[in-house]
Amino acid sequence: MAYSEPARTVARRTPLLASSSSSAIRRTLGEAHGAVPDPVPVFDDETPAVANLDPDLLGALRRAATAAADDGVEFVVNGGWRSPEYQEQLLREAVSKYGSEENAARWVATPDTSAHVSGDAVDIGPSAARAWLSEHGAGYGLCQIYRNEPWHYELRPEAINHGCPPMYADPSHDPRMRR
Ligand SMILES: [Zn+2]
Repeated sequence: MAYSEPARTVARRTPLLASSSSSAIRRTLGEAHGAVPDPVPVFDDETPAVANLDPDLLGALRRAATAAADDGVEFVVNGGWRSPEYQEQLLREAVSKYGSEENAARWVATPDTSAHVSGDAVDIGPSAARAWLSEHGAGYGLCQIYRNEPWHYELRPEAINHGCPPMYADPSHDPRMRR
């Protein structure tokens, strides 16, 4: 809608964000804080980023991944639950990368507002899995929330009957991100 032009513009830059974030993770806070240096299966019960997800989100994700596997599509988790400290680190890195807190807010939430810190968001790959979810995810209550983050999924149980809600252009438009 009104925000579609900026959303498409920023989406082209996402691979840069993903690669710079993962290299920084290895230098600093580790897996105990929710870092995912290498993608892990959604069925991984050892990695805190997966194991600490909200049980309802994780259950929906695993049911979807099981169905997707029948279609020959494998899901991996590139990010899930994060500690507040790790979210703060990602935010600091984003501020330095994007030049201001305002610009960073389009990509990275604060520890107080991030759905990753509460265990209510998961970043899914690879692109085939995202394509599968964009077609079938609503049937599991799994919804893409932000147009600029095609990997970021949250549980919206009402989507099973009513479809996913309209996406926000980016997190800065999400009322939950305003404190
Ligand atoms: Zn995310």
